[in-house]
Amino acid sequence: MTVKKNPLLIHRREHAEALLEKYDNFLFDCDGVIWLDEKIIEGVKDTLEFLKKNGKKFAFVTNNSSKSRQEYLAKFSSLGIQGVTKDHIFPTCYAAVQALESDLQVPKKSKIWVLGDSGIEDELEEAGYIPVGGTDARLNQAFRADHEFLTVDPEVQAVVVGSTKEFNYMRIASTLQYLLWKNKTIPFIGCNIDRSYPGPNGLILPAGGSVVNYMQYTADRDFINVGKPSKVFLEAILAKNGFDRSRTLMVGDTLYTDIKFGNDGQLGEGCGSLLVLTGGTTPEYLHQFLQNPNHYDEGESMIPSYVIRSLGDFVDIIQS
Ligand SMILES: [Mg+2]
Repeated sequence: MTVKKNPLLIHRREHAEALLEKYDNFLFDCDGVIWLDEKIIEGVKDTLEFLKKNGKKFAFVTNNSSKSRQEYLAKFSSLGIQGVTKDHIFPTCYAAVQALESDLQVPKKSKIWVLGDSGIEDELEEAGYIPVGGTDARLNQAFRADHEFLTVDPEVQAVVVGSTKEFNYMRIASTLQYLLWKNKTIPFIGCNIDRSYPGPNGLILPAGGSVVNYMQYTADRDFINVGKPSKVFLEAILAKNGFDRSRTLMVGDTLYTDIKFGNDGQLGEGCGSLLVLTGGTTPEYLHQFLQNPNHYDEGESMIPSYVIRSLGDFVDIIQS
């Protein structure tokens, strides 16, 4: 088996200039790339402004389903990042709704059972679906076998599971009833496969993929992953923005979601993934991974084309 060559480390001006020359469109992951929790990463605002001034186009693609596009808009604005509109933002709560509409053709006004935060509920409502479960306060109660939510609502047509910090036994048990219902045949959408994410104060915290995989295990059935590295998700983003695949670069901090997304999608003529080291992938882990990518499941597809210490460094490097 052939091993791809190591990624190019972007640290000199000519490297940054070559990137600027080769790509017109940038897909940015958010957690660990643009911000860490509620704090923007140093230099990122300047880099984004520089790219925009040079005519580059952006989309923000996050596997975090907790916030709707509307809430992400408010976050970009509160962090001082200007010029972002709803059309630029692709969280997986929105991807889940697109999957219901386009791929699964679930009729509007259907009820959809939610295990996850309000972002999923808001996007469902905006598209004309009726979310049930989700943040309903009755699910915050201690488990009771006679709880009303343990009886399935026959109008529910699908289940969407994503990130939540309100993962309790009532929610697990009620969601399981829908996943088992009708001999496990109603669609089960998982918003992401992320195990963890970089939180505040250097903490690594459990991410939505842990919730999805918990439900997959207890229901003993597979889910439709609508988040990165899903090719369906990538095609929808490229089409909506009119981005030329060969001139598009994916920028992210996670090998098995972001980098695989860019590589599997053949962005940048097969050279379209840039890893940043400000999030979940440490330099030590990257080094260990590159020693023997074949040791990892689908490892070859997770080798980044480029590495940069931080997206915030880009503007300094190109102006050095
Ligand atoms: Mg990330």
